Amino acid sequence: MQERDRDSYLRLHGEAARPWLNRCVTCGHVGYKPEMPESLGVSVLPRYLRRYYAPQPLDDRGMCQQCAAALPEEELHSITDA
Ligand SMILES: [Zn+2]
Repeated sequence: MQERDRDSYLRLHGEAARPWLNRCVTCGHVGYKPEMPESLGVSVLPRYLRRYYAPQPLDDRGMCQQCAAALPEEELHSITDA
């Protein structure tokens, strides 16, 4: 992971990148949306996001797969109901 490159890229292009990034509500891990197209016209954005991030689908609770697996639906309800 080239984090420094990624950070400087995001400083310049964060606004454009944001619609294509998924952030897990639980752990805050960021990845690109799996539905991001291969190409956005002349923009190199998808190429960079694919280089800097892994694809990260979110479930309907906004959680990444790891968090969703670690926190089953019933447990989440027992936390939010408490
Ligand atoms: Zn997560």
